[in-house]
Amino acid sequence: MHEIGIANAIIEAGQTEAARRTGAKLLRIGVRVGTLSGVDNDALRFALTALTRGTDLDAVDFEIQTCLRRNRCLDCGSEFESGVYSEPCPGCASQRTKLVGGEELDLAYVEVEEP
Ligand SMILES: [Zn+2]
Repeated sequence: MHEIGIANAIIEAGQTEAARRTGAKLLRIGVRVGTLSGVDNDALRFALTALTRGTDLDAVDFEIQTCLRRNRCLDCGSEFESGVYSEPCPGCASQRTKLVGGEELDLAYVEVEEP
């Protein structure tokens, strides 16, 4: 379950952010996870909860935002959500599209309580 390693990195990034503001308390961490990133959201949430339980981060709230696969049409430039496989552009039916979203795995935001 590589979600444990990812959860660790998320928690560390949150702590680093909180440490930059002396005495600030971590409240909330938002994470963006693309549907193509290979990360299981439930497993990630479980790992985040398990790693923070009983620690001083017990009360931190984690928000996991799912990013759907997005393609951009190379002919008309419109962006659209697509399923697991490439789909033609809904605007002009072109097959020439480029993957522009769905592989995200990053920190969306870190909310801290100022002392
Ligand atoms: Zn198009």
